[in-house]
Amino acid sequence: MVPLAQARREVLGAVRVLPAEPVTLDEAVGRVSAQTVTASGDIPPFANSAMDGYAVRASDTSGAPAVLEVVAEIMAGDVPRVPLGPGTAMRIMTGASMPEEADAVVPVEQTEVEKGRERVRVLTVAQPGEFVRFPGDDIRAGEEVFYASTVLTPARIGVLSSLGMTEVVVHKVPRVGVLSTGDELADPTEPLFPGKIRDSNRPALLALVRQSGFTAVDLGTVGDDEDAIGAAMRLGASCCDAVLTSGGVSVGDVDLVKVVLDELSGGSMRWMQVAIKPAKPFAFGTIADGRVPVFGLAGNPVSAVVGFEVFARPALRMMAGHLQRDRPVLRAVAATDLRRRRDGKLHLMRVVVRQQDDGTMSVVPSGVQASHMLNALAEANALALVPDGEGLRAGQRLEVMMLDSQADESGARSLDDALEAMKILEAPA
Ligand code: AMP
Ligand code: MG
Repeated sequence: MVPLAQARREVLGAVRVLPAEPVTLDEAVGRVSAQTVTASGDIPPFANSAMDGYAVRASDTSGAPAVLEVVAEIMAGDVPRVPLGPGTAMRIMTGASMPEEADAVVPVEQTEVEKGRERVRVLTVAQPGEFVRFPGDDIRAGEEVFYASTVLTPARIGVLSSLGMTEVVVHKVPRVGVLSTGDELADPTEPLFPGKIRDSNRPALLALVRQSGFTAVDLGTVGDDEDAIGAAMRLGASCCDAVLTSGGVSVGDVDLVKVVLDELSGGSMRWMQVAIKPAKPFAFGTIADGRVPVFGLAGNPVSAVVGFEVFARPALRMMAGHLQRDRPVLRAVAATDLRRRRDGKLHLMRVVVRQQDDGTMSVVPSGVQASHMLNALAEANALALVPDGEGLRAGQRLEVMMLDSQADESGARSLDDALEAMKILEAPA
């Protein structure tokens, strides 16, 4: 058996970041920047008022209350047209350009108008710089606003627009083909004949692909037939950046997926038994001259999804330019015993993780742990990493990979870090 960390290294070592393309800001949310963005100018570009009030020379208010003559009104978008002489003030709106001679703004709430608005009584002493936003306060010209590989959030798109940018260069979004294989899979429009089942893997994997922000391409369902599998794989190679198949990779299988992929990959496919449960059988290689990675996921529905989570999703995120490839892994505490048998594998148990009032994350199984029991996965919000042995007792600490959160930058551990901490990098006996 291959340790999980090693299998993941092989996969990530074989995929490449996709090329970049310019997109408009409309299309940029969630994309990964392929460029470092340098500020072309100061933000804000000029000194302006932070409040509706009066632009003043702060020294004129030192004996407050002080009465100043109101010589002009400056609206947002306008510029002052007369100088601000000593003993005078200008009515100024939030965001309006400061007169050069003014060094403070007195908010309107700290003033009283006098004599038909021609004069203002300033009630408090203004300090120089008060309620003024200075040029470059937010972003300085020449500053690196963010680096390549940054995920474009709505606020970052706002930053780009404030710098006058209308386009940004981002990594392409992987187009991911999904194929189900197996003679037992019934056509969804047909009644369910004896011995047949409905295809759950393809819809679930297509949904995972979409939910992860990639473009899903439905390659359909094929029977255990060499020509049909070959045709579907060639179609996938021609129109996709990666292909996910499920079924036909375990040891006892009719070997047709293997035959086809061995041929299309020029012998590069690796047929692995990974030291995990579920998702132990896993095949990986590249087709189309090494351009298109193929993930041969196990057929059991839970295995297919878990295989996607630990192998395909991180690789596809890498292709999309992400630095954070895994779901966040958190430390948690078993709320009940998490029993298992010693079998040389890391178990990825389907669990529900809930935050307690004291902040700890408590873990309970979400249902029966069997690789055909999709419902327990459907109820789960995390996969608990339960190391080889007899399992964990209530109260013991463990690591959980959250399935309902995107990888983030909040300092959660990566799966690799967690595996390292658990010292299960090397092959168990
Ligand atoms: P296989 O890896 O092809 O030997 O399949 C292992 C198990 O997963 C068998 O019980 C299959 O019937 C089941 N299976 C394979 N593909 C699918 C699928 N697309 N949807 C639901 N079950 C599947
Ligand atoms: Mg099969």
